[in-house]
Formats: sequence, C-alpha cells, structure tokens
Amino acid sequence: MANPDEVADAESWQMFANCLGVDPDLFFPERGASTKEAKSVCQGCVVREDCLEYALANGEKFGIWGGLSERERRRIRRQRALARAAQQQPRTA
Ligand code: SF4
Repeated sequence: MANPDEVADAESWQMFANCLGVDPDLFFPERGASTKEAKSVCQGCVVREDCLEYALANGEKFGIWGGLSERERRRIRRQRALARAAQQQPRTA
C-alpha cells in the first residue's frame, strides 16, 4: 500500500493547477469536439509538466492533461518507448 505522505507529495501539484474550479467536463470533451478551450486553460499553468508526467505515468487515456490530448500523449509515449529501445540496443563498432 502506498504511503499516504508520498501520495500527497506526488499530487500536491494539483493545488496549483489553473483548472482548479473549472468545469471538469471541459477537459473531457466528446469525441471530435474542440479541445481548444481546455488547452487555453492549460496554457501558462505552472504545473503543466507535473500534470503531463502524471498522466503519462498513470496511463491516462482520456481527456486533456498537461495541455495535451490523448493522441498527443500517445505520441510522446511512443517516442519515449522508441528512445528507451534505442538506448538498450547493443552498440556495434
Ligand atoms: S496543465 Fe493540467 S493542471 Fe494545469 S490546467 Fe491543464 S489540466 Fe489543469
């Protein structure tokens, strides 16, 4: 079981989120609906990086996190997986 203090630390960034008090539905638009409004809230959010890393680490599949859509986060996950795979390749002289 996770230490509650560690969980609190890991998620304390949420207290500084630009989206505090904003309608959560804005961040989970219907398929094909605009993400522009949500992304504009994320723009300039001081915890944007924390938010994005949280979503990536937790495999958040839906919604706008760290100013990025599901598709944009998928792209980052793919790029990171490729970079990890490239690092693990044995070097040939
Ligand atoms: S980056 Fe994350 S925490 Fe900041 S406003 Fe956007 S959804 Fe909220």
